[in-house]
Amino acid sequence: MRFFSAVISLRKQKEDDDFQFFGNELISIAIGKDLVNNLKKFSIADENKSEAGGVLFGYRYKDGIEITEFTTPMPSDVRRPHSFMRTDQQHINKANSLWSESDYKCDYIGEWHTHPRGNAEPSYIDRREWIELYKSFRKPIVTIIQSPSNFQVYFVGK
Ligand SMILES: [Zn+2]
Repeated sequence: MRFFSAVISLRKQKEDDDFQFFGNELISIAIGKDLVNNLKKFSIADENKSEAGGVLFGYRYKDGIEITEFTTPMPSDVRRPHSFMRTDQQHINKANSLWSESDYKCDYIGEWHTHPRGNAEPSYIDRREWIELYKSFRKPIVTIIQSPSNFQVYFVGK
């Protein structure tokens, strides 16, 4: 149960031309504006109000994480009103090509998904899945929930 305290909601701190920065006293996460803008579109554009999602990639530094690449929903993903299952192989393919093309520096960072109807708070299932990811990956991960009105960033780790 103690793992549940490891999901930390981060505040927006500042932005420059290329990045929005989220964090607290200990962590700083730089998120590419391309990603921020794309996720906004996904929360508005979906007429069926099914969840969308994808994977986050970027670079890990001593004092923070920079997220520069991401995937968006693929044909074989399962999109439902209250869940998104990332089952399409193309997410993994993108991870593998980024990893090798960047000289093994552009790493898996985490996951994003939308809540087309609700707020950007993680559900019980979201938290459980994130903790499982963190435990199996053994490195802190970053997750994002985009709701129609909110872009919320979470740090999952210790
Ligand atoms: Zn969710």
